[in-house]
Amino acid sequence: MKKSGWSKWVIGAASLLLLSACGADGGTKASSSAASSSSESEVTSGASQQEYTDPAELKDQYDIVIVGAGGAGMAASLSAKDAGMNPVILEKMPIAGGNTLKSSGGMNASETKFQEAQGIEDSNEQFFEDTLKGGKGTNDQELLHYLVDNSASAIDWLDSMGITLDNISYSGGASVKRIHRPHDGSAVGTYLVDGLLRNIHEQEIPLFVNADVTKINETDGKVTGVNVKINGEEKEIAGDAVVVTTGGFGSNKELIEKYRPDLKGYVSTTSEGSTGDGIKMIEELGGATVDMDQIQVHPTVVQDTGMLISETVRGEGAILVNQQGERFYNELETRDNVSAAITDLPESYAYLIFDNALAGRAKQVDYYKEQGVVVEADTIEALAEKIDVDPATLKKTLDTWNQAVADKADKDFGRETAMDYDLTEGPFYAIQIAPGIHHTMGGVKINTKTQVLKEDGTPITGLYAAGEVTGGIHGQNRIGGNAVADIMVFGRQAGAQSSDYVKENGK
Ligand SMILES: Cc1cc2nc3c(=O)[nH]c(=O)nc-3n(C[C@H](O)[C@H](O)[C@H](O)COP(=O)(O)OP(=O)(O)OC[C@H]3O[C@@H](n4cnc5c(N)ncnc54)[C@H](O)[C@@H]3O)c2cc1C
Repeated sequence: MKKSGWSKWVIGAASLLLLSACGADGGTKASSSAASSSSESEVTSGASQQEYTDPAELKDQYDIVIVGAGGAGMAASLSAKDAGMNPVILEKMPIAGGNTLKSSGGMNASETKFQEAQGIEDSNEQFFEDTLKGGKGTNDQELLHYLVDNSASAIDWLDSMGITLDNISYSGGASVKRIHRPHDGSAVGTYLVDGLLRNIHEQEIPLFVNADVTKINETDGKVTGVNVKINGEEKEIAGDAVVVTTGGFGSNKELIEKYRPDLKGYVSTTSEGSTGDGIKMIEELGGATVDMDQIQVHPTVVQDTGMLISETVRGEGAILVNQQGERFYNELETRDNVSAAITDLPESYAYLIFDNALAGRAKQVDYYKEQGVVVEADTIEALAEKIDVDPATLKKTLDTWNQAVADKADKDFGRETAMDYDLTEGPFYAIQIAPGIHHTMGGVKINTKTQVLKEDGTPITGLYAAGEVTGGIHGQNRIGGNAVADIMVFGRQAGAQSSDYVKENGK
């Protein structure tokens, strides 16, 4: 049912996702390109539809102002509404979703009802240990405990809203099957964003797009609202609390270069709105940051478009080979190590190799085929010729690998996970990949209540943050699947905590 306050702008999320796939300049180009393409998207995309609140409905005051409509912001809005609040979401891009919409793997969670039903033995301690190991022991351990301890209930919360992540697989750095995906194994992002938006509509939470928040206002040490530029007009919106969920800065070349000069010129997988605005606005209020130089490079990125090839492909059993047609590393090692192994190759790229059965288990492959990045051949030898690799060598590599799967022992590189399926069913596929910027692990400092902290460790009154805008939880290397866990667990918590604050201190 259409609510009166929602505009008739209808945009195919998947089409716009494609439009924003290459954005990495930190500008606002997408506003015009996406807006001008929206009518085309309506016609061409049978994908999910997004509707937004009519700008004329924007009020001067809300209980809670949420900045950014990615997964963290949408989760915060729903838990604030559950707590009886009147929240608003302001999103600077023409569509909601941010990086969340692009998430292609899934969400990590331990001790879930779905793991139990599938006989997967996992524990919150093991999830904690895997993540700490992945982050080289540098993760904020309090935040990490909160994340793992609340991951199963976040899965249940999503399920209660009709967002069911019951297909479980491996991801790099995880010792058991822990990454939760939609039932058909498809990408988590569009499914999650569709589901959250559906609930936001049902709850009549106002969500404004093309609403660029430029400043967080504060009076006498207390946050009082924001300034927003909407349809070219500057407005001041009062809020008893502000929740910042603006995502990371992977598309801001200047910030990347400032914190990591060595990553200058790297292609980025992140969405065009990932420009670090929230970090800058919070720093202006005296908020502290942590780990700003910890920028994750993902090993499997198509270089000319910045398109990510999901870790799911390796999680379902793909191998990596070099231009000689040989494996060179444990494909399921953490992202930083796999990236370094590829960069160290003389050619600085590699090929993901997989078979038809894997393509059936990882639905993302259909999309990669549509995008023209997948090389296909009926036999391994024919595939080798197409990618200019010696056919006999590639055949030998596949035979050795299939034997390792049968023996459950990878003598060459010690891989222990994602060895449930061999690669024997033609046609066979190859995708050329190399590392690209993928996630900014640093950000503003928060505590487990999602309060934004100053340098002295005290909170900024009335200010909350969650998701990729925050830092500390992933340490020096994020495990695949942990960012979606982060935004759901801490987005939900930010909605609840800001609501408690408003109830105690609001007008
Ligand atoms: C290609 C890709 C695939 C990924 N796959 C996975 C995966 O499978 N599993 C996993 O765990 N993680 C994955 N990640 C990482 C994960 O998707 C992100 O870290 C996470 O979704 C970030 O969510 P968020 O809500 O914090 O930010 P986002 O989803 O990025 O949302 C932030 C929103 O804030 C808006 N915004 C920014 N500034 C302003 C402003 N000034 N005013 C108003 N709005 C503003 C942005 O436009 C954006 O819509 C992937 C990332 C990418 C790029």
